[in-house]
Amino acid sequence: MTSPTSPAAPAPRDPAGITEYHAHIYYDPAATRPQAEAIRAELAERFPDARLGRWHDTLVGPHTRSMFQVAFAAAQLPAILPWLLLNRRGLAVLLHPETGNAYADHAHHAAWLGEVLPLRLDALPGER
Ligand code: ZN
Repeated sequence: MTSPTSPAAPAPRDPAGITEYHAHIYYDPAATRPQAEAIRAELAERFPDARLGRWHDTLVGPHTRSMFQVAFAAAQLPAILPWLLLNRRGLAVLLHPETGNAYADHAHHAAWLGEVLPLRLDALPGER
């Protein structure tokens, strides 16, 4: 019999612990950067409260393809997620919450739109 505290049955996590979300928009600098530029410009116009990160043509962190990040408050998810679903222009997007554990947020709590890319999870801090 499994007790509620068994590692096999962890207590449900409260989404109230999500401080914000990141969407990472991936592109190929030699092929699909124009699509990424269009998405970025549209995000900036429609969601001025979202924070657009720098262009990373060079790979950074756990990412195995060039990307830029957009960070936004949890309350903006119902607006930004459907927009990305309809307007990602064929690009892969990684959506993940920020809960204070970067490893878990990318390895266990992430959602992909389109192509699922490998991540170099060793690069991330946080409890495994
Ligand atoms: Zn992120």
